[in-house]
Amino acid sequence: MRLASFLLATLFSWFPFHHAAVTRPAPIIKQVLTTQKVVALTFDDGPTRTWTPKVLQVLQQNHVPATFFVIGTHAIQRPEILKAEVDAKMEIGSHGYQHIILRNQSADAVKQEIHQNEALFTSLGVPKPIIYRLPAGASDSTALRVLGDMGYKVIGWSIDTRDWRRKYSAQQMAEKVMKQVEPGAIIIFHDGPNSSQATIDAVKTIVPELKKQGWKFDTVSQMLKLEKFSSHR
Ligand SMILES: [Zn+2]
Repeated sequence: MRLASFLLATLFSWFPFHHAAVTRPAPIIKQVLTTQKVVALTFDDGPTRTWTPKVLQVLQQNHVPATFFVIGTHAIQRPEILKAEVDAKMEIGSHGYQHIILRNQSADAVKQEIHQNEALFTSLGVPKPIIYRLPAGASDSTALRVLGDMGYKVIGWSIDTRDWRRKYSAQQMAEKVMKQVEPGAIIIFHDGPNSSQATIDAVKTIVPELKKQGWKFDTVSQMLKLEKFSSHR
């Protein structure tokens, strides 16, 4: 019996598909496949003292959850704001420790960037993140393999408000969201240094408007659970 399982294990370790399964690049999830009227709001690059508390206030006033993709070097400077996000029952995802662009990086550099953020989260009492968002949306197969191996789901977006450009008014951003909204949509905003009052005002506009139209809000991870037949896995 023991010999049989040894032989089987040896055989499997030789098979190329076994190796391929371990290092399969993580897919980038841009939208959740569901028919339910549910969307996820996401905020990247925080926490900041200027914008994160304002975003939290709007979300809490409207009783809706959201997902924050947090940068380690920002969190370490203002851990109390990260804690406020956790206390407000928001989901915390990783946006890397230093916001390094994960293209043309070695596997070790990618691992370090991700691990360092995990270690910081742990030291601040925040659960280990299971979702990650790529800085600038950039990646290559090395990065996506490492992220897959480390057990991360890589989250993209389906509605890009481009708020960080500080070029669009709250109204323009709100109109874009209302026009592009679909079941399972993942909407990207920022609460980082490049945000502005337009971000806050756009969120203030779209949340009640979407609610009025019957849309519900979920964190990214909760929304992913609605997928019955997924092409992402
Ligand atoms: Zn970013």
